[in-house]
Amino acid sequence: MKIHEYQAKQLFREYGIPTTRDILVTTPYEAECVAELMGLPVVLKAQVHSGGRGKAGGVKMACRLDQVAAVAEEMLRLTIKGYPVRKILVCPAVRIESESYLSLLIDRSTSKIVFVGCPQGGMEIEETAQTCPTSILRYEVPAAILGHLTTDECMPFAEQLVDGTSQAEAVARIMVAMGRMFVARDCSLIEINPLVVEERGVVTALDAKVLFDDNALFRHPENAEMRDLSSEDQDELTAKENNVTFIRLSGDIGCMVNGAGLAMGTMDIVKHFGGSPANFLDAGGSSDPNKVLAGLRLITKDPSVRCIFINIFGGITRCDDIAKGILAAKEQFDIPLPIVVRLAGTNCREGQALIAGTDMIVANTLEEGAQCAVRLGNAL
Ligand code: GDP
Ligand code: MN
Repeated sequence: MKIHEYQAKQLFREYGIPTTRDILVTTPYEAECVAELMGLPVVLKAQVHSGGRGKAGGVKMACRLDQVAAVAEEMLRLTIKGYPVRKILVCPAVRIESESYLSLLIDRSTSKIVFVGCPQGGMEIEETAQTCPTSILRYEVPAAILGHLTTDECMPFAEQLVDGTSQAEAVARIMVAMGRMFVARDCSLIEINPLVVEERGVVTALDAKVLFDDNALFRHPENAEMRDLSSEDQDELTAKENNVTFIRLSGDIGCMVNGAGLAMGTMDIVKHFGGSPANFLDAGGSSDPNKVLAGLRLITKDPSVRCIFINIFGGITRCDDIAKGILAAKEQFDIPLPIVVRLAGTNCREGQALIAGTDMIVANTLEEGAQCAVRLGNAL
């Protein structure tokens, strides 16, 4: 679960990570009043669930009071990577001496919790990792001690990140606090980019990104309260409402599958045959035709989809019910895309018979279906 920068910074203050005294506003007039009280210059920052705001015009400095409202007005008209800007964080501008990168995250490739650092911060870390991989520092921490690290343990890493002993000590204290916060709030990421050394040597978190582990939300009502539904992917939310698991990906083959394991297997085999899935969609293990409708509606909404691959293994799910759902969807809304259907298991003969008389393609095996979907997707 994502939260906004202003919420992440509130958490930082709670856990003793130094950050600027920012104020959230929603109108240009408010921005101007806040800037007047705060003193100039100020930096206005769009609050959207997306990185790279700087490049998209979502981070702007204003040096004169008469600029503030105009900058805010322009920012409130922006849509950044599909997210309309509704809130702006007004921050006192900081004189930056150096910018570094510091995060604490779960590294899935090593199954470890790790601090990641880089003495050059500000820009996107993925870019730095490409252009200068040797500048990326790692410090793995066993989960059992993450909540009570000491500054001494963090010092060797901190010293590589910033110049000066007192600055490194400040970074080490921040790392200790990050560890406590990570455990206490069940985070999956805490990212500070940039972590800056100010003119007089003060270390401050200038930006904040925090992700919570969705699977731990049940024991953190205080985390769930921070959720901003209006800032989340609307399609993924619609899916959730229909009890369908849907995650958008970057490819062009729309997949609809029952069961998470089969959905992953389907994505793998599509990749194996040279295709690229447009989504992960698990319609779950039931025969509810509404889920088929909701799933196909989500897939067809995505303009990059060129072919739909429906892969069902009927256990509790009856394939004829699924086939009826697909036919109903085709009747209810226009699907101008080739559809490949592979039905196996309970009532698959009946299901295949229903599909056979249509313009959809029935595949007999998983391999055949995936190959066919990839070929049709490429042919368009
Ligand atoms: P992001 O683009 O969404 O990551 O937004 P950030 O909050 O990280 O800001 C992007 C960049 O703007 C930072 O790396 C800084 O270089 C610059 N910036 C942000 N706030 C200030 C500030 O108070 N003073 C100065 N000089 N630069 C700032
Ligand atoms: Mn940033």
